[in-house]
Amino acid sequence: MKVIEIKDLVKKYDDNIAVDNISLSIEEGEIYGILGPNGAGKSTAISLICSLLFPNSGEIKILGQDIRKNLKSIKRNIGLVPQNIALYRNFTAYENVKFFGELYGLRGKKLNEAIDNALEFTELLDVKKKKAEEFSGGMLRRLNIACAIVHSPKILIMDEPTVGIDPQSRNNIMQAVKKLNKKGVTIIYTTHYMEEAESLCTKIAIVDNGKIIVEGTKDELKDIVSDKKILNIGVDNIYNVNLELLRNVEGVIDISIDNNNVVITSSKDVNNLSKIIKEISNEDLKINDLAFKEITLETVFLSLTGKKIRD
Ligand code: ADP
Repeated sequence: MKVIEIKDLVKKYDDNIAVDNISLSIEEGEIYGILGPNGAGKSTAISLICSLLFPNSGEIKILGQDIRKNLKSIKRNIGLVPQNIALYRNFTAYENVKFFGELYGLRGKKLNEAIDNALEFTELLDVKKKKAEEFSGGMLRRLNIACAIVHSPKILIMDEPTVGIDPQSRNNIMQAVKKLNKKGVTIIYTTHYMEEAESLCTKIAIVDNGKIIVEGTKDELKDIVSDKKILNIGVDNIYNVNLELLRNVEGVIDISIDNNNVVITSSKDVNNLSKIIKEISNEDLKINDLAFKEITLETVFLSLTGKKIRD
């Protein structure tokens, strides 16, 4: 069953098109990743899906219903973990989750059980009487998630939930996402960390400049570049590299610069390594490093856009 269907969605801020004619559909049980650099339009897309913003045009259906007509009933099925932590710092963990539970209409015994379940799930039950202001960044992120799942939503939307936290807390969150998904929750997960998308997501849309550039499982995405190889050459002074000469080497498709590295995408079938080295070598330049890059989503993004996800 399709839980989310988006058709021709457009959102402009004055002349700036933040979401540029996006269409996608998300099946039940998926962890759907929206991967793209800062400013790609991820948060705007999430705000549109949650009806916090209204589109200029396009259509969004959630669980088969148009959000313009059935917002109230749809909202009960959605949990949102916003990018900016939305908590009351002088409330305890318990009180924060209670506030959100009540917003969703939970009361009495049902509410209390739901709060404890959400806090237990995010490993915060022991500290439920502590105020949020005493929490670390990672704990705040987890409490943010507890608030979003207290009403047991069918769909959980997480907008860059691991920004600015330590690796341990990030792992905890990623484990929690997997566990929720196993319980049947469909998840939409935006990130600019391609490792997160790779390890978590069953399907990934790579976005840039408000557009979906490509969509598929991580293996399908990697297949896009399977006929290419990417060579990374570290040099001591990038300004002494003659890019024009390199561009003319047989098989070279694209060249980009990453700090003091020249990153050359070329066709896999052409044996051009010695020619590349010959063209790059000159007396004013020392090569420090030379390696073929492993194919990752970062490589896919690089090969499709000519730039890195994180600059
Ligand atoms: P992401 O979440 O991928 O970082 P955003 O959706 O926040 O991207 O932003 C997409 C584009 O829309 C960017 O160019 C950003 O500057 C612009 N934008 C986002 N929010 C606003 C706003 N409230 N007013 C004007 N422009 C905005």
